[in-house]
Amino acid sequence: RSLPTPPTTHASICSYDEEHPALAEVCDVPVHELVQRTVETSTGVDLDESAFFAADLSAVYQAVQTWRASPIGSRVEIFYAVKCNPSPAVLHLLSLLGTSFDCASSSEINQVLSLPSAPSPDRIIFANPCKPASFIRTAAQKDVSMMTFDNADELYKVKRIYPNAKLVLRILTDDSKSLCRLGLKFGAPLATCPGLLQLARQLGLDVVGVSFHVGSGCKDPMQFADAVWRARKVFDMGKEAGFDFKLLDVGGGFEAETFAEMTQVLSDSFDLYFPEDSGVRIIAEPGRFMVSSAFTLATSIIASRRAHAPEAGPSVPKEVVEQEEETSSADVMYYINDGVYGSFNCILFDHQIVHPHPLTIGHKLATVAPPCPPLPNVHVDVDLPVQMGYTNTEKASVWGPTCDSIDCVRQLVDLPKGMDVGDWIGWGEMGAYTLCAASTFNGFDKSPVLWTTGGSSDNARAVRAVLDAFATTAGFR
Ligand code: PLP
Repeated sequence: RSLPTPPTTHASICSYDEEHPALAEVCDVPVHELVQRTVETSTGVDLDESAFFAADLSAVYQAVQTWRASPIGSRVEIFYAVKCNPSPAVLHLLSLLGTSFDCASSSEINQVLSLPSAPSPDRIIFANPCKPASFIRTAAQKDVSMMTFDNADELYKVKRIYPNAKLVLRILTDDSKSLCRLGLKFGAPLATCPGLLQLARQLGLDVVGVSFHVGSGCKDPMQFADAVWRARKVFDMGKEAGFDFKLLDVGGGFEAETFAEMTQVLSDSFDLYFPEDSGVRIIAEPGRFMVSSAFTLATSIIASRRAHAPEAGPSVPKEVVEQEEETSSADVMYYINDGVYGSFNCILFDHQIVHPHPLTIGHKLATVAPPCPPLPNVHVDVDLPVQMGYTNTEKASVWGPTCDSIDCVRQLVDLPKGMDVGDWIGWGEMGAYTLCAASTFNGFDKSPVLWTTGGSSDNARAVRAVLDAFATTAGFR
């Protein structure tokens, strides 16, 4: 079965887009209501509806505003990391808000350049230091000249295919405190930089600056201070090699929790090593920070098993029952309609711990308003339902729908008693590295997205104004 139509469609945004269907159905109710109304019409034992995302464009808008109001906001340009969540509606809104883009493949470049609000090619950085030759050819054909490298082979390739490219040297920095350590794969160690720069010089290539990435899910803002210091060293090496670098790319790794601290550390480091009067242009490639809170996933319980179910009848020996009980301390196992092969791939690939909150209990809407978004600080030991005030809870394990036992979403989490097949569980902060890496393994479809501009908040109104203004000028209605 498909999802019910989202309530209250915003007509002026929806009328224009045949090529970009995701932009065509943006409603304008608050995200809580969107989730609740959809869940309400889909609750009950016989309604095994698909899981779905509710995506709130006003949260993306808020992220841009937060960035621009931060200590680095007036200086550091956003090049949104498309890989993190390439939904057309997100890219379209960001492009209209004037952000630029970090693409890592030909198809990401093509996607950005074919947006209805396509940016000019100089608003794209091809931030993949190890590109197939054909990707470099695409970049040349599309005039996307800014690209990263971290090895000699890449320089020879660029010389052959796109000798006028504007090269950015990706350096290795300390990422030991980050959830995803990109330095294991990318980044030239400082010791190799003079040699690379000399080679670039010999090949007559144009190296314009330095980039780094402190790792995705960076937990220690001081990694940024160290990285900027290293970048300064490489700027000096560039000078010795005869280049005059004018670009610093501080990559991604930003998170809402540590954003204030990180941007302050960066701002202080810029004052020290790249002051305003140095004339150095600074860009960043935030992914997670821009989209994480904008997406809430709603899943329904498709099956459940009690740990000490009556199936363990008189014919099962006591020792066997005891041994089986030892292997799991959950009172109940819930099976839901999305899992680690789908949207929850972030558990495996992105090292995330996801946090459930009940949307319905016993097929009735949960009385406590769901915390989506904003979530309270989710990196806590106390499970969300307990934080929300539910006292009558039990230990549950939550499993995805596939036939693989790796498909475990939470091994042990407190959920209210009384939840049943047909009830719904919500998951906040699901916008980053979720949808984009989901598979259809075992024949389970990817969860669809319901879009909203976010309701009646100032941000929501601003989003509608931006989308409407574009639709009018572009003649889409
Ligand atoms: N830039 C590059 C080159 C990346 O590889 C990534 C993530 O892998 C990002 C930016 C985005 O990082 P984040 O989502 O942590 O901001």
